Amino acid sequence: MLSALGSIAFSPSTGVRAPTAARAAVNMAESVPMDPTVLAKYEALDQKGKVMAEYVWIDADLTCRSKCRTLDANKIPEDPTKLPLWNYDGSSTGQAPGDDSEVIIHPKAIYPDPFRGGDNILVLCDTYTPGGTPLPTNTRAAAAEVFAGDAGASVEKGTGAWFGLEQEYTLFDLDKVTPLGWPKGGYPGPQGPYYCSAGADRAYGRAVSDAHYKACLFAGIAISGTNAEVMPGQWEFQVGPSVGIAAGDDMWMARYLLQRVCEDFQVYVTLDPKPIPGDWNGAGMHTNFSTEKMRKAGGLTDIVAAIKRLGTKHEEHIAEYGEGNERRLTGKYETADIGTFSFGVANRGCSIRIPRSTDADGCGYLEDRRPSSNCDPYVVTRKIFQTCTDESIPQKEMEASNAEQVA
Ligand code: ADP
Ligand code: MN
Ligand code: MN
Ligand code: MN
Repeated sequence: MLSALGSIAFSPSTGVRAPTAARAAVNMAESVPMDPTVLAKYEALDQKGKVMAEYVWIDADLTCRSKCRTLDANKIPEDPTKLPLWNYDGSSTGQAPGDDSEVIIHPKAIYPDPFRGGDNILVLCDTYTPGGTPLPTNTRAAAAEVFAGDAGASVEKGTGAWFGLEQEYTLFDLDKVTPLGWPKGGYPGPQGPYYCSAGADRAYGRAVSDAHYKACLFAGIAISGTNAEVMPGQWEFQVGPSVGIAAGDDMWMARYLLQRVCEDFQVYVTLDPKPIPGDWNGAGMHTNFSTEKMRKAGGLTDIVAAIKRLGTKHEEHIAEYGEGNERRLTGKYETADIGTFSFGVANRGCSIRIPRSTDADGCGYLEDRRPSSNCDPYVVTRKIFQTCTDESIPQKEMEASNAEQVA
């Protein structure tokens, strides 16, 4: 009988073989709890001069993958590019054909490993063919080249480009249907009390947010803050201000840490930009940007000029700001409509917001509110940098839609 079902998979929980289709339908999200106190016994063991180096890379679906290797503790260089290259089977990640499947990973940044502790490290890598060409999915290579052309975006030799990235995310039960804290099959009370909330009846998942915050600090990621979001079960953390490529590197490693923390807590995290349709805020990755000129007295003129260049390139940016963003950028719930470019002081309904402090000081930064939570920070930071700093791009003729000043 079973053979008539075609492809089958083994179900460890029941010992019964079940059709793969049945397993796919539950999205492989059954809880597999393990007792962390048992692991602690092994974590205390001496590593005898060796380091566990977890090499992390980004696959074709913008999901982090990793595998681990042993390195000598006394041979960990300051410069990540001096670490050994490694490889993985690209046919298993949708990044290479089966007959020539080797993908080479090049270390680009080293972080202390908050999960294993000690001298163990996480190694952020990007992906290449054996011939040394970046894979089509290696968006870091193009971003690194652009920032290198700006002398690393340093103040001394370049524009001094800074990015502050606000990553929103949504926690779910392992059924992937019920946001954390929501009644099964139903809805909580309407939005209002949840944003920046405290209390068992409104803040759901703080342990995840806090564990992730600590993990980021331990890893040396430039995490600048965190808060509970407007939709219950939704949270945000911020990375920055970071210089050039470091923004994308830190955001990708912070996303990997979030994935691992949620694995520990046995909750599901998604970066989908509108995980619950209807009257609920979506999730974005607001990107704050400034150059040295923008941060200095009179910089507001440069900020407005940069914004008007972003206006000229609106469609081009939207095309690279994340999958499914049209479900989020509706013009409601603190977003601007995806088809219309707008900007304004303190206006969260605009594509670009000029913070009130920037307007008052006459210098500071701009906030691009369009990128979705599942965007690629390498792509978004590169696009914003290129458009904002290229003076040959014409400025869109438009007026600001400033929020009403509240006395
Ligand atoms: P919001 O009010 O939109 O919720 P957040 O406080 O969440 O803003 O995030 C603002 C981000 O902008 C932070 O990551 C912060 O470090 C960053 N930031 C602050 N100043 C600058 C600047 N001059 N250039 C770029 N990013 C900045
Ligand atoms: Mn924020
Ligand atoms: Mn937010
Ligand atoms: Mn914001």
